[in-house]
Amino acid sequence: MTHAQDPNDALFDHARALIPGGVNSPVRAFRAVGGTPAFITRGQGAYLWDADGRRLIDYVGSWGPMILGHGHPAVLEAVHRAVDQGMSFGAPTERESELAEEIVRHMPAIEMLRLVSSGTEAGMSAIRLARGATGRSKIVKFNGCYHGHADALLVKAGSGLATFGHATSAGVPEVVVQDTLVLEYNDVAQLEEAFALHGAQIACVIMEPIAGNMNFVRASIPFMRAARELCTKHGALLIIDEVMTGFRVALGGAQSLYAKEIAGFAPDLTMLGKVVGGGMPLAAFGGRREVMEQLAPLGPVYQAGTLSGNPVATACGLATLREVAQPDFHARLAERTRALIAGLARAAADEGVALCGDSEGGMMGYFLLPELPGNYTEVLQSDGARFNRLFHGLLERGVYTAPALYEAGFVSSAHSAGDIEETVAAARAVFRQLA
Ligand code: PLP
Repeated sequence: MTHAQDPNDALFDHARALIPGGVNSPVRAFRAVGGTPAFITRGQGAYLWDADGRRLIDYVGSWGPMILGHGHPAVLEAVHRAVDQGMSFGAPTERESELAEEIVRHMPAIEMLRLVSSGTEAGMSAIRLARGATGRSKIVKFNGCYHGHADALLVKAGSGLATFGHATSAGVPEVVVQDTLVLEYNDVAQLEEAFALHGAQIACVIMEPIAGNMNFVRASIPFMRAARELCTKHGALLIIDEVMTGFRVALGGAQSLYAKEIAGFAPDLTMLGKVVGGGMPLAAFGGRREVMEQLAPLGPVYQAGTLSGNPVATACGLATLREVAQPDFHARLAERTRALIAGLARAAADEGVALCGDSEGGMMGYFLLPELPGNYTEVLQSDGARFNRLFHGLLERGVYTAPALYEAGFVSSAHSAGDIEETVAAARAVFRQLA
């Protein structure tokens, strides 16, 4: 007797024969949670459909960009119009300046910016610029923060205080990461010590303001203040990586939230990605004018890209940002996201499962822990096996969440109150089995 193969399994088999792990970015392979990834055939609004015809409520949102949900009509129209005019010119277009103007309008710390095609490129370029502008080599990053897969940033924490890290990927020579100092997130004393030891050689501190690559961990106010003050005092640049948080947690990004709490707060450089491209390959880095003017062709720091500022991608990003800038957009999104986290917490408590969560704007995270963690070491105390059961239980009930414990979740403006209720009901049923 033969069994008809699940279409997702068949597609995965085919993909694995041709593409390493069957995927073009590792986390998509479901390695952490086990099982077969859902192969997506289309998306509309808050939903995805997989090859088996299942409808899934989507809280991955392409890992952040799809803040308006899938197939938003204004975005589709802008993209269609742009495609009709040509796919790529490798020459400047007016729309690049329009997009730059829209970004600068909402993020006053960005006086000038450059468009690139991925968050990785934004991070790699921002680091090179910080090193070029300061004439220094060392960079400070934090354990658990991800800034793309450029060599110097693929580093895990060293074992002792203010020690240099080790490459987390084969193929990254130790010499490339020997200037990358990895510290614990939210640890002011360690940061002070690092500057005391190496201050004159530190080009920059790079950080996620709300670390979505640890699921959801906020930089505390004292930590952010210390980072800003120490960078200023020692002549280093503060790079805030808003690839995930930019236009997602607030119109002005996470930095606008810290600026409310810390007088005069502004980063020297900001990285943007995800929402800024609305689902197309587009990202950016920008900041203080005199720093940005160090870039070629004005200055000595080289950076370039065949598809940078691509006309279709800029049309998509611009249409997305114009929707996101509508009055009350983030207030409504934040309310819906909070309702989801509150619903999950209530359902978990009712069923005797320890769960805590947090959210800002349309970004959220929850842990099967009694209290929110403050750094990566604490995040790692979360029970991976239980998380995997929660993930698969939700997926079986039509709720698509990130297939890894260390990833944030995303709510879009297309998610309705009904979608949130359906999600909480599904979670309640899973919690009952987890308790
Ligand atoms: N920075 C942060 C905070 C990210 O979350 C990511 C990707 O998830 C990146 C940088 C890298 O962006 P990309 O995947 O577009 O290269």
